[in-house]
Amino acid sequence: MIRSDSTEKIRVRFAPSPTGFIHVGNARTALFNWLLARQKGGVFVLRVEDTDIERSKPEYEKNLIEDLRWLGLDWDEGPDVGGEFGPYRQSERLELYHQYARQLLENGQAYYCFCPQEELERQREEALAQGRSPAYSGRCRNIPLEKARRRLESGEQAAIRLKVPEEGLVRFNDLVRGEVEFDLKLIGDPIIVRSNGMPAYNFSVVIDDALMHITHVVRGEDHISNTPRQILLYQAFNWPLPVFAHLSMVMGKDNTRLSKRHGATSIDQFRREGVLPQALCNYLAFLGWSPPEGKEVLTLEELVSLFDLSHVNRAAAIFDYDKLYWLNRQHIKLLPPSKKLELALPYLKEAGLVGATLGPAEEEWLSRVVELLLEGVDKFSDLPQKFSLIFDFQPEALAEEAREIISSDSARKVLQALVQKTSDLSDFNYEVFARLTGEIKKETGIKGKELYHPLRVMLTARASGLELDKFIPLVEEGARLNFPRPIKNCLQRIREFACVLGIEPAGKPA
Ligand code: GLU
Repeated sequence: MIRSDSTEKIRVRFAPSPTGFIHVGNARTALFNWLLARQKGGVFVLRVEDTDIERSKPEYEKNLIEDLRWLGLDWDEGPDVGGEFGPYRQSERLELYHQYARQLLENGQAYYCFCPQEELERQREEALAQGRSPAYSGRCRNIPLEKARRRLESGEQAAIRLKVPEEGLVRFNDLVRGEVEFDLKLIGDPIIVRSNGMPAYNFSVVIDDALMHITHVVRGEDHISNTPRQILLYQAFNWPLPVFAHLSMVMGKDNTRLSKRHGATSIDQFRREGVLPQALCNYLAFLGWSPPEGKEVLTLEELVSLFDLSHVNRAAAIFDYDKLYWLNRQHIKLLPPSKKLELALPYLKEAGLVGATLGPAEEEWLSRVVELLLEGVDKFSDLPQKFSLIFDFQPEALAEEAREIISSDSARKVLQALVQKTSDLSDFNYEVFARLTGEIKKETGIKGKELYHPLRVMLTARASGLELDKFIPLVEEGARLNFPRPIKNCLQRIREFACVLGIEPAGKPA
């Protein structure tokens, strides 16, 4: 029996195990489920699968809720918001699992298995070595329930297994992968409750999906081999099957599973890097799907209206960091200036460039600098490095390229002239600079980049950066403001640079 009633309200779920930070692959699963629910006016359920007592931690649950909310996703039912079919944490549903396991035992659809772990492993290895299926041998299948109960009372430990037919096929139609079939011979009787009393994943997931009326199970392809076992359980209970959709794995460019070796992989890392949640969602949606009209920069609302689960690709999704950062730059451009400043401030504070409080003049100035320097920045965490153009001035530690620029005789002439012409000045601005540059050009005959490049190096101690008509007013103004690390104005820069180069204004001893 498959759910076929198209008028039924769609109910989907994201069911993470809180055993670590949420990985981009899982976040994509969450997003696809959320998009489907929001698009179809359905319900999105968050269920925490914390039955692995050793690896599950409440702080991971807290992080995953924070990360999902940060991404902009919300859920209609979940551990923190409640709902009709709760509790939504598996560790709080153990009694339910036991109740359904008892039902199967009493109907003869499940049995106690007393085989010790080591014995099972030995059998498995032996079967593999002989080229046979490593499925469970069925040794405890025929122990009568009464006898099994007596053994348990006398202190023996047992797991519970589902009895599945020894032969035949389990078939289902996957929304992404099409017709899928598994041979029952390879499956064997799966454990549904472990000997420590905890439900196996395949069991708790089915009980929960069924009791929570989940209509579509959208999850990673790493679960596809679990699906036949889950289908056998639905059949044992005579419950309607949900629609299944298995999303391909997320790989690095080298076609191996995306991992730390490739770069950031958790939502938390991208968040700390200063990737915008809307850019990340935009990119995650492209892992296996592409919008029909080729428009690439999409908001969450646009994704909700365009997304189409039936057009999700079954090929592995390759995670392309360059594409993600490109999208991030596009989304950054769409932000209002006040938002850019708000997002930039934590990074500038952490780098010690900005103190705990900001005066209005400082704030206004910073907002303009952020606007200018954000251009071409992949992510907000790259911003302090860009800010060093204004806050750091180190003529004694020039990079090779800058040193090269000022090494020629003509460059020396230009710099000497600027030092000379500014030696008596106490005020400087871009107009003064333009006038002096004009004079130097006329007097030395040096022009174009031979003229401008050395001047840029002298004012910035760098070979490249902002245009000087932007840079000069910014540092002049910034130098009058209050920052933990004071900004040097142009005259200070020229004098310091002259000192490092041993240039003295003419008339004074060298
Ligand atoms: N707890 C499982 C996981 O995190 C859920 C799989 C599923 O969606 O069924 O992989």
